[in-house]
Amino acid sequence: MQEDENNVIAIDGPAASGKSSVSSRISAKIGYLHVNSGLMYRAFTWSVLRSEIDPNDAASVVGHLNSINLNCGQSDGISTLRVNGLDPGLELKSSEVNENVSVVSAVEEVREALVSKQRDYLKIANIVMEGRDIGSVVFPETPYKFYIDASVEVRAKRRMAEGGGDDLNKRDKIDASRKVSPLLIAEDACVIDTSEMDLDQVVQAVFNELKVRGLEKL
Ligand code: C5P
Repeated sequence: MQEDENNVIAIDGPAASGKSSVSSRISAKIGYLHVNSGLMYRAFTWSVLRSEIDPNDAASVVGHLNSINLNCGQSDGISTLRVNGLDPGLELKSSEVNENVSVVSAVEEVREALVSKQRDYLKIANIVMEGRDIGSVVFPETPYKFYIDASVEVRAKRRMAEGGGDDLNKRDKIDASRKVSPLLIAEDACVIDTSEMDLDQVVQAVFNELKVRGLEKL
């Protein structure tokens, strides 16, 4: 498959807005590869913490980029990650990673390295990629862009149901105010407020819009 023949469906939005559930359902239904770019930032942050590097020390964080091997692969339709051969597993969702991931993700060199890995996925498959800057920076040319939102209350409730340990407001604030590739709504994104919707309704809304935007073979 050629890179320019593959499609990208970009799903951006703030923390706990439901991007992963939507991306997972959409990708499974149409046979696209589901790539969770947030997990890449989490994996790198996990590695920074494991190496006892201060996440606020940007120079050391950048130095760490060159000293590890972050392998981004795929298995059964989902992106996979290994750091120096290790699968961080559930530790990617730990409160320590939640607490530090936004600071690490704001470092320009970290973004450059990970965006390059994100773009590589398009060389091998049609993809549904979720994140913060997928429609605005990683794949600005794709016509298939969504911004999945929900009220602060609904998002906090959803995260609590998953176990909590995540200061959503703090992460959103850092993500939306950083200099490089902040969280924003791309001009041509379809915005879906999911506060009053269930997953089926959101998935249907995305499919309807994909048809309007001309995506064939749904
Ligand atoms: O999507 P998730 O909440 O797991 O992302 C974790 C963190 O990774 C975000 O809060 C953000 O700091 C960072 N991130 C990012 N750009 C992306 C995806 C995630 O900066 N495309």
